Amino acid sequence: MSSVKETLPVELLSHWINGERVAGTGKRSGEVYNPATGEVIRRVPFADEADVDRAVAAARAAFPAWRDTTPLRRARILSRYRELVEANRRELTALISEEHGKTLLDAAGSLQRGIEVIEFASGAPHLLKGEHAEDVGRGVDSHSVLQPVGVCAGVSPFNFPAMVPLWMYPVAVACGNTFVLKPSEKVPSTAFRLAELFTEAGLPAGVFNVLHGDREAVDALLAHPDIAAISSVGSTPVAKHIYETAARNGKRVQALGGAKNHAVVMPDADMNFTADALVGAAYGSAGERCMAISAVVAVGDAADPLVALLEEKAAKLKVGPGDQDGIDMGPLVTAAHRDRVKGYIDTGEREGAQLVLDGRGLKVAGHERGFFLGPTLFDRVQPGMTIYQDEIFGPVLIVLRVPTLDEAIALVNRNPYANGTAIFTRSGAAARHFEHDIQVGMVGVNIPIPVPMAFFSFGGWKASLFGDLHMHGMEGVQFYTRTKVVTTRWPASDEAKAHGFAMPTH
Ligand code: NAD
Repeated sequence: MSSVKETLPVELLSHWINGERVAGTGKRSGEVYNPATGEVIRRVPFADEADVDRAVAAARAAFPAWRDTTPLRRARILSRYRELVEANRRELTALISEEHGKTLLDAAGSLQRGIEVIEFASGAPHLLKGEHAEDVGRGVDSHSVLQPVGVCAGVSPFNFPAMVPLWMYPVAVACGNTFVLKPSEKVPSTAFRLAELFTEAGLPAGVFNVLHGDREAVDALLAHPDIAAISSVGSTPVAKHIYETAARNGKRVQALGGAKNHAVVMPDADMNFTADALVGAAYGSAGERCMAISAVVAVGDAADPLVALLEEKAAKLKVGPGDQDGIDMGPLVTAAHRDRVKGYIDTGEREGAQLVLDGRGLKVAGHERGFFLGPTLFDRVQPGMTIYQDEIFGPVLIVLRVPTLDEAIALVNRNPYANGTAIFTRSGAAARHFEHDIQVGMVGVNIPIPVPMAFFSFGGWKASLFGDLHMHGMEGVQFYTRTKVVTTRWPASDEAKAHGFAMPTH
């Protein structure tokens, strides 16, 4: 018999368009879970083409006045927004943890990284300064201006409900664009709350809109003639689809994809420090981080002591609901994703990797319907195995053994993904060799998750990013602006007024 609680209807969320809640006309909707209990806690509306039109129309209507708002005034709204997000930190953190499953501490850290992008974008008047050169020809000067591109769209993944959207829209809006965000349908509430707070901070209606939905909404955004630029973060097949479709439709696009991040461990590394770092980087957020370390490459004699320490430390991790004290790792986001990750553990065992720690049997008392999976460790993994080839995106760490640093570097460079990587060593020479030769976008030296701060740019290489420019930092400003170069002459004398028929040779 179902309980009274289970039979109560769950709330249906709204879109945020033109500064207000909008129900939308889309007929479809999805379920939002609390992954720790396995319960459906909300329903999320899926936008149809008409909803997309409405959101884009609001952003388009808001663009001329926002473009003409001075960067200083835009920056003041962003500064107020940062204060409001900080003041509501507790509520936002709880929402992130409730719908994603990660611990409150981890959710707070991810929100903080996002807040720092608002802080960076608040420097708009400085960031939007162009260049000036006097006398590019005799009596001729040139200057460049950075102008907004128009209506921009963002598509974000489930694993960072606040941080990834915040990589995009504060910079876009600071540059004078208007924005339509399509957050992940698995974790929709945080983005909606962030939109409400932006309006409360004084942002004019229509400048920032949140549209819920799935592939249908994304495809309508990709085809929409009034969208000038698209930023997206998600798995590699989706990133490739977004990149190719948006580019074919003449849009500027940056599409960040999946990852398989390697940590190379040298025999001279401080093994205890390294194992602590790797356990946090592999199992934090249940491995559902684009910068999680999912493959360890142990060089030479590093392997035996390292695997022993990893096993010992991973076995001690406390797995449970993210909102409880003392928990290291929460559940996976959905039952389907948990089962997919479990399937990879079955495959790894079948393909002959050595299963050192098996998380499949884990039960969390009182949360039997939650989507939990314990930390899992494989040793002696071969590059041809499925658990090395695929992005698993769960609490599964694999160890590969190689004899030399050069072979470790070659292995990392052969992998199609290239988001983040790290080396653990006491040798400056080894670290420098690694930093110089590794073909990966973000590199850590004795830092397992080398996420660039807001004032640098975030992005991988190869199958981890389709497009040319990374997110936030100055590459974010470049992505959300077009450069115009103005060449000026103020002729005073007849000589200066003379026009030639040939191109000037100066
Ligand atoms: P996903 O690719 O399933 O979804 C990402 C977004 O795309 C969501 O908003 C979703 O609604 C939309 N989408 C899904 N299928 C689509 C389709 N066929 N066409 C158009 N849109 C579609 O990713 P996810 O499961 O939400 O997130 C996890 C993935 O994101 C992992 O692969 C992870 O590595 C990646 N990720 C990468 C980074 C990075 O910085 N490179 C950061 C975070 C997450």
